Amino acid sequence: MNEIIRDTQAAAAGASLDPQDWNEFRTLAHRMLDEAIDGIANVRARPVWQPIPDEMRAKFRADVPRQASDLADVYREFSESVSPYATGNVHPGFMGWVHGGGTAVGMLAEMLAAGLNANLGGRDHMPIEVERQIVEWMRALFAFPESASGIFVTGTSMANLMAVLVARSSALGTLARQHGIGNDRALLTAYTSKAAHGCISRAMDIAGLGTDALRKIDVDADHRIDIAALRAQIAIDREVGFKPFLVVASAGTVDIGAIDDLKALAALCREEGIWFHVDGAFGALAILSPELAPVLDGIELADSIALDFHKWGQVPYDAGFLLVRDGEQHRQAFVQPAAYLRREARGLAAGAVWPCDLGPDLSRGFRALKTWFTLKTFGTDRLGAVIARSCALARYLEACVLAEPRLELLAPVNLNIVCFRYRADDAINREIVADVQESGIAAPSSTTLDGKFAIRAAIVNHRTDERDIDALVSAVLEFGARRSGDALIETEAPPLAVQ
Ligand SMILES: *Cc1c(COP(=O)(O)O)cnc(C)c1O
Repeated sequence: MNEIIRDTQAAAAGASLDPQDWNEFRTLAHRMLDEAIDGIANVRARPVWQPIPDEMRAKFRADVPRQASDLADVYREFSESVSPYATGNVHPGFMGWVHGGGTAVGMLAEMLAAGLNANLGGRDHMPIEVERQIVEWMRALFAFPESASGIFVTGTSMANLMAVLVARSSALGTLARQHGIGNDRALLTAYTSKAAHGCISRAMDIAGLGTDALRKIDVDADHRIDIAALRAQIAIDREVGFKPFLVVASAGTVDIGAIDDLKALAALCREEGIWFHVDGAFGALAILSPELAPVLDGIELADSIALDFHKWGQVPYDAGFLLVRDGEQHRQAFVQPAAYLRREARGLAAGAVWPCDLGPDLSRGFRALKTWFTLKTFGTDRLGAVIARSCALARYLEACVLAEPRLELLAPVNLNIVCFRYRADDAINREIVADVQESGIAAPSSTTLDGKFAIRAAIVNHRTDERDIDALVSAVLEFGARRSGDALIETEAPPLAVQ
């Protein structure tokens, strides 16, 4: 027996992965933290984005590291090769896609969460209560009943998929989970608009319902779903024997930030007995701004809402969320009995509904902590003000575009997204976007609207201000002039900037 103890003690010397010298570790850790904070504080001094040099990329084709390296060396590699070549969404000049800017507070919370190394699949511990607290806050914000459930997921793509699965078991009964969807002869059909995010279609595919079963309804000039066309399609489908089961509304389309008429859709779904899901990936958090909240009228009538804290909520990636009105239906769609997950009356295995009952993941990280820190530290009023300000900046950009004859506005500005172009063909505008991105001045993205290539600026980052909008406009004008061979090289700020 003593020999066994001696052997394990001898092996232990090198076994644990904890630092050999905690003081040395601490010094380096503080340096890392300082430099990470400097990186955020001085973000304006850097290019928004820069192309990755080939030799940097090549460094990440190395062999499996069988031998140990010094933490300081690994960190140096990170500082030299990773951190300078990130997406750039921390930078106020980043307006591509719909990316959140994150905050220094969120960064600290991520570090604290990693220290706890909590697994939020289930069991009785405080991190789960933090997640439940966020669920309660979301219930309150969207006026959902106490029986509503919620869960953190990677992002809205996952939340939308889970909503399709909950709606599916709600329509077919939970036995369909056992029989499979093909065996009850129910041909489920779902509905969304042509402006909806592509992940809805993918969710239908992954759920086994097929993308053909998703009817993409026409939109009006403001990119909102045509309700009469939706109603007509549901009637046609019923007539030929399909079973309409789900309508997915967009609260903030990814192209132009359009919000469907949620109230009318809620009424239609109630009338038809169809699950009403809202994809509120970024738009749903407009609820935090008293000035913007009315555009979401009717969201409180949804059966489920998908949203991202990592976009307008400024929580570091990733922090998606699904809220379901009927918590029991939500549970019924995912719960699975397993002896090793048995709930007890007391002890660490106590507690009724665990997050693993509400989604496909068993092991789950502590996304709730960075969200809790963000909501509490800034307060929802201030976060709402940030959201309202990004809409005001979008209107400022809209005004700049309208005031500049060389630019053309391509879509109405609903929330925080502006689609425009230099008055030249698609090919030139495509080059302009890449030129602006590679210049490091700003990072817009692009989309296609009515067959036209559009430069798309989504203003999401709380650090973005008028200077960044002016810089984007100047850069588009300058590269536009160069690309189209116009004599004029404009480097001045656009007209509105000087007012
Ligand atoms: C971003 C977005 C999604 C996808 O969300 P992820 O968090 O990227 O998975 C879905 N719908 C809309 C409208 C979005 O803006």
